[in-house]
Amino acid sequence: MKPQTVKIQLAREESHYSIEIGGDLLAECGKWARKSLGKGAAKIVIVSNPTVFKLYGKRAQESLVSAGFEVTTFLIKDGETHKNLRNAELALRHFAQSGLSRTDAVVALGGGVVGDLAGFAAAIYLRGISFLQIPTTLLSMIDLSVGGKTGVNSAFGKNLTGAFHQPSGVLIDTSVLKTLPVRELTAGFCEAIKQGAIGGEALLKQTGDFLADFPPAEIRRHTEDRQFRARISDLIAAQVAFKASIVAGDERESSDRKDARSRKILNFGHTLAHALEKVTRYKYFKHGEAVGYGILFAARLSNSLALADEKDVKLLNDVVHRAGSLPSLANIDANEVFEAFKFDKKYLSGSLQMILLKGVGKPVIMTTQDIPQVLVKTAIKDLLKR
Ligand code: NAD
Ligand code: MG
Repeated sequence: MKPQTVKIQLAREESHYSIEIGGDLLAECGKWARKSLGKGAAKIVIVSNPTVFKLYGKRAQESLVSAGFEVTTFLIKDGETHKNLRNAELALRHFAQSGLSRTDAVVALGGGVVGDLAGFAAAIYLRGISFLQIPTTLLSMIDLSVGGKTGVNSAFGKNLTGAFHQPSGVLIDTSVLKTLPVRELTAGFCEAIKQGAIGGEALLKQTGDFLADFPPAEIRRHTEDRQFRARISDLIAAQVAFKASIVAGDERESSDRKDARSRKILNFGHTLAHALEKVTRYKYFKHGEAVGYGILFAARLSNSLALADEKDVKLLNDVVHRAGSLPSLANIDANEVFEAFKFDKKYLSGSLQMILLKGVGKPVIMTTQDIPQVLVKTAIKDLLKR
């Protein structure tokens, strides 16, 4: 089966690139890198982590070497806490020691942690060199591959130190999903459902139908099937095309926009997700799992504000359930979650923005001034009672 290509065209010509999607593409990544970077590139640093590198590093490295690149590797430890400035600095040092020049490139081989850090280091090394992404989690395939956000966590907050830096190309080999833990698949699908919820009925249906036929717990058995390969490629292509359509119109996420095509709508489900992550000290949920609950909460709140119908709430509930089981909410206190909301300075000033739905595919940006506190509290309590 031929890989499919989604062309990403943002406002500036130099930020056009392609996303290639298909099965077993990793062994061909050398040719793809050569095509994406041109003849001038000589050296590549692969940034990865030990978990992913052990599984896929050799295959990627051999292919890059056979395409004529001189390749070295820089590994960061596995986990969100390693997406930090210290490791970004160590990456820069490795780039310099490897003699990377302005015409060389960085390849990110891994999930979002690796992708964000590698992209950020590439963005600031010599004021920006090329970087290529080979995302290996579902979340990084559908989310990080479009939008150009790169960065690390720091004392000032999660993801608050970073740069916009577009990749020169993205290669999505769906076969690598075979080894991805089920919880990571569920988390990725929750972000996919989020995009369906704001993107429209067709994207939500495509995502929901896929989940009905290939529940995350069974995906590992299907990654070689023809049918699976075609459907997952189509789904990822539709997801990235949707995100690109939003990002293209609002590349830098303008703070003053409040319309339904603002990049902010991609934060649907994220206000509650952040509160849940905060009260559990970022240790209990995978981010995407918290977004799964965030979708249910936002749908319920949209309904209690008479924006969304009961049938939309039910539909979103059904699809989120198909993504797999989410961690129990039994030990989470509703007041604490509400406080986590309220603690947000923006909430207190009434300027915290929340994305709600007037229906599937009809997002609205509201400020907390427009939403009675009692409804927020009730929606949190309803969710935690489940
Ligand atoms: P992750 O990178 O931590 O990967 C999850 C786990 O899966 C890790 O343990 C990893 O080693 C393992 N793994 C990765 N690929 C594998 C494979 N094919 N087989 C087996 N194991 C594999 O987490 P993530 O969910 O991919 O990314 C989360 C990060 O992405 C967060 O830091 C978040 O802030 C960031 N993010 C960035 C953007 C953006 O636009 N830049 C968007 C969304 C999320
Ligand atoms: Mg998210």
